[in-house]
Amino acid sequence: MVLTTFVLMSVVWVFLNARVENIFYDDFRTNIETNYNELGINEENTDYQKLFKELKENALIAGFIHGHDKSYTILDKSTAEILYSSDVLYETDKLQFRNEIFKSENLLYVLSQKDANVVGNKQKYTKADGGNFYDYVKTQKLKDGEYVLFFKYNRDRALVVLEDFSNAILLSTVISLFAAVVIGSVLSRTITLPINDIMHKAEKITDGEFGYALTVKSDDEVGKLTQTFNFMSSRLKSMLTEITSEKKKLETILDYMTDGIIAYNRSGEVILTNPAAEKLLKSKTSEIVSFDEFMNILGISLKMDDITEENNISEPLHKVQYKDKFIKIHLAIFTDENNQTDGVIAVIQDITEEHRLDNMRKEFVANVSHELRTPLTSVKSYTETLLDGALQDRATAEQFLGVINEETDRMTNLVKDLLTLSQHDGGIVLNLDDISIGDLVGSCIERMKREAKLKNQELKSKIKHGLPIIQGDRYRIDQLIINIIGNAIKYTPEKGKIMVQVHCDNDNLIISVEDNGIGIPAPDLGRIFERFYRVDKARSRQMGGTGLGLAIAKEIAILHGGNITVKSKLGKGTNISVLLPIRKARR
Ligand code: ADP
Repeated sequence: MVLTTFVLMSVVWVFLNARVENIFYDDFRTNIETNYNELGINEENTDYQKLFKELKENALIAGFIHGHDKSYTILDKSTAEILYSSDVLYETDKLQFRNEIFKSENLLYVLSQKDANVVGNKQKYTKADGGNFYDYVKTQKLKDGEYVLFFKYNRDRALVVLEDFSNAILLSTVISLFAAVVIGSVLSRTITLPINDIMHKAEKITDGEFGYALTVKSDDEVGKLTQTFNFMSSRLKSMLTEITSEKKKLETILDYMTDGIIAYNRSGEVILTNPAAEKLLKSKTSEIVSFDEFMNILGISLKMDDITEENNISEPLHKVQYKDKFIKIHLAIFTDENNQTDGVIAVIQDITEEHRLDNMRKEFVANVSHELRTPLTSVKSYTETLLDGALQDRATAEQFLGVINEETDRMTNLVKDLLTLSQHDGGIVLNLDDISIGDLVGSCIERMKREAKLKNQELKSKIKHGLPIIQGDRYRIDQLIINIIGNAIKYTPEKGKIMVQVHCDNDNLIISVEDNGIGIPAPDLGRIFERFYRVDKARSRQMGGTGLGLAIAKEIAILHGGNITVKSKLGKGTNISVLLPIRKARR
């Protein structure tokens, strides 16, 4: 504001100076013109003497005679000789006077021109040693020759007025500057201070400090700016809170989801992993390799460069083996603001269990079909033979029907076992009862004795007295004991020995069935409880086994909160122990 005021006042000063000077000169010139015209001088009626006389007598001229300020001078145009001058200096020093007036460009111009009506008023004032002067030059043709009239007006008079003007302007300038300082400082309070506040607040927001809203001190633009800034700051704060909470939610989801997530940038570097991915790949974040390397390990021929080039993944789903696991990996691209691939997200699922179950299911169906096919083929072939005529031969017919009956029994057993397992898979409800295991085992041995006798086997039992009563499903525990004793009879040759013992150990009841039969090879020990697993398929089938007995037995033991273990030596014998908790009984 100070600068603007100063510049404005300077312009006014220059302009007024020029204007005042113009007024002075114009007044001087028009005054001469008007008065001179009134004299009515022309070439026909006037000669030098008359001109000289007229000029001296004229009221106008009065102002010029002996005047310090104004004077007139008559020159002969052809010789440029001064004929007369009313100037004081002319009277004292003619030579200097001549020197001074001949500095006037107006005079020199007029003298140089032939035209009789030429006027010298181009330059307003002439600089001279004796003081600057305004001058106006006129030519006048008379009867006796051509003359030049040189009118002079001391510039000092104008300068006095100009000085007054300058002083007034200087004073105005000082007052204006003072006003500019005062108004400027008041404005700075209402404009600069709030803007400063906004600036500081903006710096704090940049550092994440939102603090309180700024006070709106006025209703003008600055006030509106403050209001808008407050609104912007509050919106920014709420947006930031929203983003932070969304981020936290996403982090929690990523941390707790069971699927592994790995995000890669467009260069294939890992930018994010979740704990599930680290657990699944059994490596720390820093050990998880780049996209290309990972795909190479998984045997998937896919490179990040190809994905960014195509902007698409043609085959996003893969099921592959990774170390000891089977994984399902789903790849998806994420894009930038131009819809160009910015990276890839890999969602990894552990499908080892799914894979195992799928295999088991396939194996199970194959096993069941196989188990049913053998007796069915046998039934079919015997029936055909009977229909083809064997029916006539009673002895053969009876033998064949016996085989058919046996095969049907085998199938019935298999279906029964399958039904039991399917019940277990569907989640059976145990029919809990108070059971005396001693009595239950005794009754089972009684029932199995006939079978043992057929093989001349010795089936003995040693049951401790005073065993505690346990809670369990009588029917199923009975089935469990029969299965194990049945196996001992099946896999022990004639004249073998089988010993069934029941005793108490801490919190468990232990039923152990020991035989001196064929035994089980060590590598098979871990698998005999699997469904359809049989050490010697032919022998088992021959014995009427289905390969499901021990699987059912183990499931019953587990359902009761117990377990079943096996010890065996090939060719020496086998010991199968069932452990049942005394107080703990499930369901
Ligand atoms: P299976 O109906 O074939 O007997 P199990 O599930 O009852 O089926 O038993 C699985 C396999 O375990 C049998 O095929 C057999 O090879 C072996 N096994 C079970 N009990 C004995 C035992 N006491 N002595 C020797 N081998 C046994």
